[in-house]
Amino acid sequence: MRDHQQVTDDLVLYALRELPEQEASEVSRHLDDCPECRRELGDLNSDMALLALSSVGPTPPQRSRERLLKALKAEPRRAKTIVMRRPWWSFVPSFAAVLLAIFGLMLWRENTGLRRKLDASQQASAQRQADLERAQLVLDTLTSPESSHFALVAAKAQPVPEGRASYMQKTGTLVFTAQHLAALPPQKVYQLWLIPASGSAPMPFGTFKPDAQGNAAMIMPNMEKAAPKMFAVTIEPEGGSQTPTMPIVMAGA
Ligand SMILES: [Zn+2]
Repeated sequence: MRDHQQVTDDLVLYALRELPEQEASEVSRHLDDCPECRRELGDLNSDMALLALSSVGPTPPQRSRERLLKALKAEPRRAKTIVMRRPWWSFVPSFAAVLLAIFGLMLWRENTGLRRKLDASQQASAQRQADLERAQLVLDTLTSPESSHFALVAAKAQPVPEGRASYMQKTGTLVFTAQHLAALPPQKVYQLWLIPASGSAPMPFGTFKPDAQGNAAMIMPNMEKAAPKMFAVTIEPEGGSQTPTMPIVMAGA
């Protein structure tokens, strides 16, 4: 037995008497019990009557009609029929019917394609949001004054100043952390430098001051996008310098 949805899908073809005999009789049975489908069929019939009344063109060649019908039958079953309410086209009824069904199919396809695109873009946007939240969590943990930082070294070893620079050249983003930094003289800052692989001058990559425990962290988005040979740290006057002042406090390739 056909359910309501299937019947709704087939009503246009039923109204056009294009349904195979058995399906048509199933639709008839459903119509006896379903006022909604009866109303829909009534609407369709008046649409077609209007179409027939507005027919002015010559009868289309029999060959075209057959070709269209064949193409329509070869199509996969429609999930949804989009019903045209306005007789904006004029043909003889049966030919109009086929065109109407094809038009509905085209609309349905376009609709499905659009919905698929929308789904994909919603998924991509949810993924981006998740990535952002994870990145934010990492940054917060590294840089928030509420975080505690622990440096683990071999037992009995004397802690030495050390830094870790992570640099993504593609985005020009730098994340830098350091531990066991010596306290700075007054009006001085530590400054990080990118030493380019190209051999050109060192690039200033941000200044920082360690906290009372000698820890420092900084995030530098939108920096120069250069291939690095190494990173180095110097002590500079507050505000930073354009060229590094020797000696180098820390360096790493
Ligand atoms: Zn129904």
